[in-house]
Amino acid sequence: MDLGLTGRTVVVTGGAKGIGAAVVRGLASEGAVAAIVDRDAAAGTTLRDELRVDGHVCHVVQADLADPAECARAVAEVTSMAGPIHALVNNAGVNDGVGLSEGDADAFVASLHRNLVHVYEMTRLLAPSLREARGTVVNIASKVALTGQGGTSGYAAAKGGVLALTREWAVEFLADGVRVNSVVPAEVMTPLYRTWLDTFPDPEAKLASITGRIPLEGRMTRTDEIADAVLWLLSRRASHVTGQQIVVDGGYVHLDRGLS
Ligand code: NAP
Repeated sequence: MDLGLTGRTVVVTGGAKGIGAAVVRGLASEGAVAAIVDRDAAAGTTLRDELRVDGHVCHVVQADLADPAECARAVAEVTSMAGPIHALVNNAGVNDGVGLSEGDADAFVASLHRNLVHVYEMTRLLAPSLREARGTVVNIASKVALTGQGGTSGYAAAKGGVLALTREWAVEFLADGVRVNSVVPAEVMTPLYRTWLDTFPDPEAKLASITGRIPLEGRMTRTDEIADAVLWLLSRRASHVTGQQIVVDGGYVHLDRGLS
């Protein structure tokens, strides 16, 4: 299937590792140009150099998007480096465990900066380019937007906000032909997930207890499976899809718990 992404320039926040890196690799394989915005410059540069060896064009801008001023600098840099931007994948984020017991108002707001405010800022700042290109936005949410987890109020509010903004911006961009959608992952093995897993006394037992509850094939979702959904939503093959959320989780959130 020709996704029609050849030559399109796509900004991927948090594109240096995990799900974002899988999106970057997928874009490269489709002949698109990925522009990584990530605070881990070393990982971003390694990925860029690896893709360049195979003849792909990829750019890297280092920024900590939790700071709105860094979002503005990143957009200026990425635009001057990569030229017109056609699409945006808002992927950067972290389940940072700011709950009712552990947090306070400042910690809650800081979590919103790590997970939601930059989604607004990057989309707002790139809106003129996206309108010009009749482009697309894909936001990466989380199962925590749909199911309670406990102990993570900031992240839950942020990811719930990401789903609400997906619908809100689908309307705001309607007249410009800019489509906005979300992909909702649940359990995906990434560096972030591995770090979380390693906080348990027996990480492999914890992993087995989770995968045992994933209905389809009893396994974690792969990063490339999330990326495939993102690529489709970015592409002209999803030309009449906007304001939607697609849950890519092997049935973890929506299928009957009695199955596991
Ligand atoms: P990851 O392995 O940590 O990769 C994310 C990349 O984004 C890292 O390079 C990280 O840098 C960077 N990043 C994070 N916050 C940033 C910021 N404020 N500014 C710039 N760069 C930043 O994470 P992942 O598991 O792929 O998660 C990607 C997205 O999927 C997140 O929004 C996450 O909430 C969501 N998600 C993941 C899962 C899962 O199972 N993995 C499930 C549901 C939702 P550092 O390494 O320096 O932090």
